[in-house]
Amino acid sequence: MHTDLKTPLTEILLHQGERDLPFHAVSPPIFQTSIFCFPSYEEFRDALADEDSHYLYTRGNNPTVNLCEEKLASLEHAQRAKLVSSGVAASSLAILSTLKSGDHAVVVRDCYTWVQYFFNTYLAKFGIEHTYVDGTDIAEFEEAIRDNTRLIYLESPTTLTFKLQPLKMVADLARSKGITTVIDNTWATPYFQNPIDAGIDLVIHSASKYIGGNSDIIGGVIAGDDAHMKAIFEHQFLPLGPVPDPFQAWLIMRNLRTLHLRMPQHYQNALKLATMLENHPKVEDVLYPLLPSFNQYELAKEQMRGGSGLFSFHLKTDRLEDVKQFVNSLTLFKRAVSWGGYESLVFPAAVKYADTAPIPRDRLTLVRLHAGIEEFDLLQADLNRALDKVGV
Ligand SMILES: *Cc1c(COP(=O)(O)O)cnc(C)c1O
Repeated sequence: MHTDLKTPLTEILLHQGERDLPFHAVSPPIFQTSIFCFPSYEEFRDALADEDSHYLYTRGNNPTVNLCEEKLASLEHAQRAKLVSSGVAASSLAILSTLKSGDHAVVVRDCYTWVQYFFNTYLAKFGIEHTYVDGTDIAEFEEAIRDNTRLIYLESPTTLTFKLQPLKMVADLARSKGITTVIDNTWATPYFQNPIDAGIDLVIHSASKYIGGNSDIIGGVIAGDDAHMKAIFEHQFLPLGPVPDPFQAWLIMRNLRTLHLRMPQHYQNALKLATMLENHPKVEDVLYPLLPSFNQYELAKEQMRGGSGLFSFHLKTDRLEDVKQFVNSLTLFKRAVSWGGYESLVFPAAVKYADTAPIPRDRLTLVRLHAGIEEFDLLQADLNRALDKVGV
């Protein structure tokens, strides 16, 4: 399962593991089976003794799922990857693999909401403590680390506030203290960022975003070295059971074939829209790491080869009515959660609050956009038309 780090991208996405398919099929078969049988007692016994390297039961390994995992490992420059049922399952399993009662974790404050919930509510019940850090400065990590710190959990950039962590520095610090690092790389995708090259131990993804890329599957990925991944397979994946099904793995492989075509298009659209919004009189500021005016632009350029389609901006107003007017005036950008598909989306941060609740100032006017792969002119026109309606 080891992979050559210099493999060209299309070799991974289009051909890896697909050269000797049954009946010379071009597209890999879907092994839609729950169990695998054995020609003898002895082979049956060997498989039971080492499920990690045998086909026994699809809750463990399945050939369609494994083929998808081999491609994902290559993409992330990892020795091995595990596909799981959702991004949340990926983060939970990776986190659980590093912690036991009495341990402590350092966590990036603005990480995915359900990860925050997992630390605040779930792990707290088992006596696992955590400290949140903004994450932009290495000094915060140094201060937050305790003797019992076993995990540093990163998400760079975060996906509402777009804060980056200095990955090499955090990885070096963690290694010097024997602490495991986990990063959520969903935003950048392996197309733009490979945290393992910076020394990060485990990479997780929500495959429901760009890896799926078509808003038609839910899935998650964990990637890392053989030792970590074998332990996760045996001690978290098998007992907890967040199994991806073979058809889901097949859809991910199908959708991955266009990753190298989709990502540059998301990048171009997002960068141009961010630039346009930054210069619009009704916009206060724009949060896109690849925008030269962004406060961590230099770090973004150093750690990433580009950016994906998701970014935020603040509307220049104090009124929720203006935010509603803008959001309701969009015709091409769809109002929805999530992102990473082909289509453009809008998510106003205020929508999480009841209309009668006080909304914190920094959330009231914060609007997150996902630039899909439509023609730029269409997206630009839709945003301009909606901005024109604000405050009139
Ligand atoms: C969506 C998302 C997740 C959770 O993934 P699911 O597939 O929805 O479980 C985790 N991290 C980030 C950054 C996400 O956007």
